[in-house]
Amino acid sequence: MMKKLGWIFAALLFVVMLAGLYFNQYDKRNGTEETVFLFDTICTVKAYGENSKEAVGKAVDRLTEIHKKTDVFSKDSEVTKINSADGGEAIEVSDDVIKIILVALEIEEKSSGAFDISVAPLVDLWDFHGEGRIPSAEELEKAKGIVDESEILLVGNRVIKQKSETKIDLGGVAKGYAGDVAIEVMKESGVSGAILDLGGNITFFGTNPESENGSWRVGVQKPFAPTGEYEEIIEKEEGAVVTSGTYQRYFEKDGEKYHHIIDPKTGYPVKHDYSSVTIVSDSALVADCLSTACFVLGEEAGKTLADCLGAEVMFR
Ligand code: AMP
Ligand code: MG
Repeated sequence: MMKKLGWIFAALLFVVMLAGLYFNQYDKRNGTEETVFLFDTICTVKAYGENSKEAVGKAVDRLTEIHKKTDVFSKDSEVTKINSADGGEAIEVSDDVIKIILVALEIEEKSSGAFDISVAPLVDLWDFHGEGRIPSAEELEKAKGIVDESEILLVGNRVIKQKSETKIDLGGVAKGYAGDVAIEVMKESGVSGAILDLGGNITFFGTNPESENGSWRVGVQKPFAPTGEYEEIIEKEEGAVVTSGTYQRYFEKDGEKYHHIIDPKTGYPVKHDYSSVTIVSDSALVADCLSTACFVLGEEAGKTLADCLGAEVMFR
């Protein structure tokens, strides 16, 4: 018995020593990591080098700010102000929201409407953020009639909807924009390298002190497998790796899974024989729009769209 306890003690000591060694190295590299819950998902920000603590703090502040402006569930967000405005009413919004909408409108056009932030009335009906419900065909037909991004006009920093019923949902694009902004903030703070994981949107730059050649290694999650089981590892120096997957948000009713990426043309969750789309791009904002758009478009049209925007796309 004592002999067994001795072994357990020795093993514990070894683990503690290893942990000590790890945290020491982590300190030597001036690494700082913070995890927060924003954009309805777990977000991790990690930076290395001088000022890493200050840089991570500033990045988290900016992420929080962008989340507050774009949160469709908050009664005070800019998106809610747009959604509750009357037709023809001009709503003044921040540069952040204007920049997101501008890129979203561009991708909507390039994807022939596969990506469409005015999909909100359809997303609402499915209640993915709540219990989940299957809307009737009539409800979907009615909501489809409201989905139309050309109803949204931008005049300077003002957003004008032509009809009161038009609503927007920035869930498919806000995390990408936030990733790019947070990286810029950390670059300005002078850190040597940084990486962010905003619920599957990975953005990074600079040197990774934890890899031999300094580059970043991003694992592409195996759909429906436990976190950490990877299909493939992507190695890149700077940019973004963004994945949209059916397993990220879905509900199950009568043995059928209903996931959160909606085809604006049918009103239903997109049905394909793949479960996720990963985009590798220099911009997380473009990658975020593209991952959702390519998921809707399918392999052939998705590859053409990604090519046209200088991004790589993988279907799994
Ligand atoms: P992502 O995880 O980036 O693919 O974004 C999915 C989220 O974007 C959903 O939870 C919805 O809020 C929203 N969304 C769903 N379908 C679309 C679509 N076709 N175009 C734009 N946004 C969408
Ligand atoms: Mg997206």
